Amino acid sequence: METTPVSEDCCVKVAVHVRPLIVDEKLQGCNDCVTVSPGKPQVQIGTHSFTFDHVYGSTTGSPASSMFDECIVPLVNGLFQGYNATVLAYGQTGSGKTYTMGTGFEDGCHIGITPQVMNALFNKIDSLKHQIQFQLHVSFIEILKEEVHDLLDPTSPNKSDTASTGKVHVSGKPPIQIRESSNGVITLAGSTEYAFVIICYNDMCLYSRSHAIFTITLEQMPIIGDGRVHINKGLLALGNVISALGDEKKRKEACISLADINAEETLNTLKYANRAR
Ligand code: ADP
Repeated sequence: METTPVSEDCCVKVAVHVRPLIVDEKLQGCNDCVTVSPGKPQVQIGTHSFTFDHVYGSTTGSPASSMFDECIVPLVNGLFQGYNATVLAYGQTGSGKTYTMGTGFEDGCHIGITPQVMNALFNKIDSLKHQIQFQLHVSFIEILKEEVHDLLDPTSPNKSDTASTGKVHVSGKPPIQIRESSNGVITLAGSTEYAFVIICYNDMCLYSRSHAIFTITLEQMPIIGDGRVHINKGLLALGNVISALGDEKKRKEACISLADINAEETLNTLKYANRAR
């Protein structure tokens, strides 16, 4: 029987992704100012030392390639059991948030977290499609100067340009309002929500972009009339969904640069990430 790891009980996990020096920094003569303790998820900067759940991407940290399996796969599995999950990238500009979270599917050599999540999601949906009918909804917003903008606005003349150029599209419509209902549910009034009954990985990549909030909502329904075994499995899945609703799982990632010119911001990021644990 396949075992599907789901996120453990702890609500917030913090992983630090250390990026290497980039060409510009090397040209400026920057040196490394961050060290990682060999074999430990521990980062040193100056006299400060921080321990996290995971440290990836430096020569002594875990390889960045294991980040998805260790940190994200349990969250994707949890989604099918009705758990909510959030992956938040925090760090100064240039520290690697976009790289980590994922427009990497465009360059063909690095694939970031968001497209990998989509891939995992669709593989799992494919394997369960005979028992369960799935519906996915996605919404995509960006917060800029305290205004919320809809990146899926269908009236945008250059929606695909928006994703590739990184420019913010402002449609001329009033900004989206963040509202809280009497039962504490947060809604984004006026945002576009795309619903797909049949969806493929490429469809979803069209709507990907970093520095924004990409929300995936997954609905599961048992396929009735496909045999009692399947109905029972579906009911079990639905029961899990209901019992898990409201149980919030959160996961955070911090991105830092090795370069000494970024030392102050890096220290701030590590302090913030440390507080989130
Ligand atoms: P941010 O989104 O935080 O502003 P970016 O993701 O745009 O930062 O990264 C800044 C630069 O560093 C980009 O050129 C990116 O390709 C490079 N970079 C970021 N993380 C890594 C990494 N882990 N390995 C190699 N290059 C990286």
